[in-house]
Amino acid sequence: MKSIAIFGSTGSIGTHALDVIARHPERYRIQTLVVHSQIEPLWAQIIQFAPRTVGVADPLAAAVLRARVQAEIADKNLRPEVVSDPYAIAALAADKGVDCVVAAIVGVAGLASTWAAVCAGKQVLLANKESLVAAGQLMMSAARASGATILPIDSEHNAIFQCLPSGACAPEAVLKLILTASGGPFRSLPLSAFADITPADACRHPNWSMGRKISVDSATMMNKGLEVIEAAWLFSMPPDRIEVVVHPQSVIHSMVQYADGSMLAQLGRPDMRTPIAHALAWPERIDSGVAPLDLCAVSGLQFEAPDLQRFPCLGLAFQAIAQGGAAPLVLNAANEIAVAAFLDHRLSFSQIPQVIEATLDAAFTGTATAAPQSMDEVLFQDAMARTLARSVLTKLNPCLEHSLPATEPPTC
Ligand code: NAD
Ligand code: MG
Repeated sequence: MKSIAIFGSTGSIGTHALDVIARHPERYRIQTLVVHSQIEPLWAQIIQFAPRTVGVADPLAAAVLRARVQAEIADKNLRPEVVSDPYAIAALAADKGVDCVVAAIVGVAGLASTWAAVCAGKQVLLANKESLVAAGQLMMSAARASGATILPIDSEHNAIFQCLPSGACAPEAVLKLILTASGGPFRSLPLSAFADITPADACRHPNWSMGRKISVDSATMMNKGLEVIEAAWLFSMPPDRIEVVVHPQSVIHSMVQYADGSMLAQLGRPDMRTPIAHALAWPERIDSGVAPLDLCAVSGLQFEAPDLQRFPCLGLAFQAIAQGGAAPLVLNAANEIAVAAFLDHRLSFSQIPQVIEATLDAAFTGTATAAPQSMDEVLFQDAMARTLARSVLTKLNPCLEHSLPATEPPTC
């Protein structure tokens, strides 16, 4: 029986993970659930899965939940402890009663718990790509030191993990990793219509159902840029050997190119329960609830190079990757600020890359771009980049100067 902690249990990844876990009560037990503030869906999860502990980042929501637990769960042994202090929440990922941590908080908000899990040597099912983008070097060396196993559940990285050699194949026989991208909802929208894109348009992904922040990242293709950085760290692959190809059907989830001309691909329906089930049961295989792919119903598979004029965010991500050091961290922080502002109707879709580019320019004018050497440095540089991005945002839209919140609201 594997005991599981899900960080971000009410989100898209969290609920897909619980769906798979509920199919295998003999294999998995929920120890911990963590959310930002959505206590209604969390309550249903508490009743269904009886976790020992729950973390609620918003203190007011935590207090409401604590009172409800006391009032409505008669059996004291079934009452979960409710934690809301941020350090205590992160520490739940390192609890000795937890075997496996599903890192599914959105954004750098997920960094502390992912870091705690990695340092404690847990099995980490990683969805929270922003942790690796901001602190990849530190995360990977901490995992080597602690013996933590990081299993990717981002669909592309899980596909690559499945296609990589497990036996006696020399690493240099792997020539390239090829990340597929759907191209999002605006792959063929006339560029003249980009000015009118609303948050609802951007969150309407053609193939995947996801949280709002990653949906916007998919629409700008920043998601693919973040995924290139994620892949470089996860698979120790130089970024110039990671390629992005647009594949609108989302049938092939990614590929590995070998020296002998073979290309291995992982195929399946666009349903996150497949990579989640793969990582949960690894190295075994379990039922995920996903129907097999009907190949005869797949009308055709298209591939095309990404259009960097249409998707400047992807170009900015490639530049940040090439620059290295702290550039990916700044890129990520600026993107989180810009996407939150767009979702909050404080920025237009086309201004998202403008905020990121201006923040990167301002952050690195005449300064070195050394990668952060400690988690404190990561948090400091992330905070600095957010402050810069907010000032760029107010310069772009001066009328917003007095309406900007001190911290961005969660994007879910
Ligand atoms: P989501 O917005 O649907 O859910 C986010 C979850 O995180 C919610 O449960 C929310 O309560 C929680 N959360 C947010 N801020 C928090 C905080 N400060 N403290 C504690 N909990 C907090 O997001 P999602 O789509 O599930 O994505 C989660 C992560 O997984 C992201 O990093 C995303 O890039 C990655 N990912 C998602 C998908 C997908 O299909 N949704 C696919 C691949 C990777
Ligand atoms: Mg992905």
